[in-house]
Amino acid sequence: MPTETASMFNPASKVSKISHCSSMEQYKQMHDKSLKDPEAFWGEIAKQFHFEEKVRGKFLDYNFDTSKGKIFVRWLEGAKTNICYNCLDRHVLAGKADQVAFYWEGNDPADAEVVTYGELLKDVCRVANVLKAKGVAKGDSVAIYMPMVKQLVVAMLAVARIGAVHSIVFGGYSADSLADRMMDASASVLITADAVWRGAKLIALKEIADEALKLCRAKDLKVKMSLVVKHMDTVTAPQPTSNGTAPGNAAKKTHFDDKGNYKLDGRFHVTGELGPLLDVWWHEVVSAASSECDPVWLDAEDPLFMLYTSGSTGTPKGVLHTIGGYMLYTATTFKYSFDYHPGDIYFCTADIGWITGHSYVTYGPLLNGATSVLFEGVPTYPHIGRFWEIIEKYKVSKFYTAPTAIRTLMKFGDEPVKKYDLSSLAVLGSVGSPSTPEAWLWYYRVVGDSSVSIVDTFWQTETGGHVITPLPGATPCKPGSACFPFFGVEVALLDEEGHEIKGEGEGYLVFCRPWPGMMRTVYGNHQRFETTYFKKFPGFYCTGDGARRDSDGYIWVTGRIDDMLNVSGHLLSTAQVESSLVEHSSVAEAAVVARPHIVKGECLYCFVTLTEGKTYDDKLIAELKVKVRSKIGPFATPDFMQLAPGLPKTRSGKIMRRVLRKIAVGDRDFGDISTLADPSIVEKLFELRPKET
Ligand code: ATP
Ligand code: MG
Repeated sequence: MPTETASMFNPASKVSKISHCSSMEQYKQMHDKSLKDPEAFWGEIAKQFHFEEKVRGKFLDYNFDTSKGKIFVRWLEGAKTNICYNCLDRHVLAGKADQVAFYWEGNDPADAEVVTYGELLKDVCRVANVLKAKGVAKGDSVAIYMPMVKQLVVAMLAVARIGAVHSIVFGGYSADSLADRMMDASASVLITADAVWRGAKLIALKEIADEALKLCRAKDLKVKMSLVVKHMDTVTAPQPTSNGTAPGNAAKKTHFDDKGNYKLDGRFHVTGELGPLLDVWWHEVVSAASSECDPVWLDAEDPLFMLYTSGSTGTPKGVLHTIGGYMLYTATTFKYSFDYHPGDIYFCTADIGWITGHSYVTYGPLLNGATSVLFEGVPTYPHIGRFWEIIEKYKVSKFYTAPTAIRTLMKFGDEPVKKYDLSSLAVLGSVGSPSTPEAWLWYYRVVGDSSVSIVDTFWQTETGGHVITPLPGATPCKPGSACFPFFGVEVALLDEEGHEIKGEGEGYLVFCRPWPGMMRTVYGNHQRFETTYFKKFPGFYCTGDGARRDSDGYIWVTGRIDDMLNVSGHLLSTAQVESSLVEHSSVAEAAVVARPHIVKGECLYCFVTLTEGKTYDDKLIAELKVKVRSKIGPFATPDFMQLAPGLPKTRSGKIMRRVLRKIAVGDRDFGDISTLADPSIVEKLFELRPKET
């Protein structure tokens, strides 16, 4: 528990003098209205957008109770719109064609580009015309496997413009994962790129995509076209580092010719091996296509995209989002959670391959006509100050990243941050996993110079947008708490039997009613949707996360329900124990899991990653045990401690505790680990298990 009081973090310190929501009274009024009269609340917001046809049926209709029949959620019945039109045409028609939509910042600091709303619209129309010419129509699904380049944004908006459904697969997943997702969506087109440098590492996207296409073909999926962006010719390859080593050299030998050009070596298929599939160069067909393309007017409940969850707790779920509600929700959360105002420069570090990138790199900012930084690289290349350098370069005012990135950068201390002028920053956001008070305070003090608003936004792929978050200018923050529900969201905490815990207490975090941005189904598996989210507590959407409400009503997300620890009858959350471990100056990151224990039922098994330059020895182990014991109680004293050179994390940066649980008991049956960023860490951790286990 942090000792600081809420008043320490004055919410209005640096945000605009006229923030969209400037007091807790105003927040409460707006939140009340959003629950009492959703139609009036969201209807008012809908007026900012273009609807070709207005709502003709029920504004909201739903069933959350499996005992009353099929689960469904419908917003804005009968309304027709197009999200791409609302992201682009609306601003261009309002005279903002020359406004910057994206400052693209490449993997290498030498690579940068500026994209305006007007240019974006023309490119989107061209690609939409290319897709139409290939017969892609409303309802068809298009797979996208791309680096963080402007063409990725163009591709997704082009798909949305013609009423097709995008399924974006993070450009780092394997051929198997890509093929599975393409099969699942029955994708008829793939949009990809030749390759990309991520840091000093080459990712040969086209090679991986070809493997995936072969797998799809073997299973009879007919993919009509793969549209390939030629990216490598336009970017700077990694340079030798100061210690003389040249990163990426191995890849340069195998993948580049003598002149330094990237080779596709027969990987560009005009015919043959891949059957009817045609590889098409983006730059050739797109420049030849017309830059005008009428948007297709779509039903508010038509599908917009499908996207897989991170796979932290099991096999990923293919979440389906629809157009109208998602549009209103991402636009509104972006505006309020970051207190967005014209003139802001916004930078979200998430890859578009994750929901954070969908909602808060593409849709939320563009719906608000915002100017953003689109970053291709990684936080530590070519140096550990890259994020801060970019913030200084573009004078970023609103910055959004993940606690995993914050913790990684924290390890290097304050000095790399202090080298840069970060005085433009006003709001710092975080998303992805519980933020420890330690990381929160570092973010606030070191990055934000104790004069910014921090927004710890809790949400999921399934929720489409922020569901619990502070609002800059209104919410006094407590470090580590996601604070209060967003407009339209009604939170409850339930005990195991489904009884509501009123006031202070801890339980299952559930939502009592739909908000516009929530998922509508698991693609092709409505049964899984009902079982995963609605079966346990009929009448509620179950997040799968646990949370605590404190005496001031603040919500503290404590982690996955599956990860809860039960030691001698005491229920503990992983977040609680991990927060006390990272308070020790030698610990950079910690992950705690339960291991069965004959007497206690379960005992604590802790994995710790050390701060740069620290040593792992018996003295440290003893100190850490004392730390947890004194912070939480003698019953919580860890039985096992293990050094972890790294933790098994999904590619979106979440710790896969289910794998750690297996390591703790010496079981190699790890389950689905296809979404791990570095699967080799699992074996390393296995070998480092302490002898007494
Ligand atoms: P899967 O559902 O396949 O197991 P996942 O839940 O990791 O994967 P995402 O939708 O990317 O997939 O992540 C959502 C989860 O991330 C939330 O349920 C929660 O556990 C965690 N999370 C996100 N933001 C926060 C936050 N601000 N505080 C605490 N936890 C968070
Ligand atoms: Mg999840």
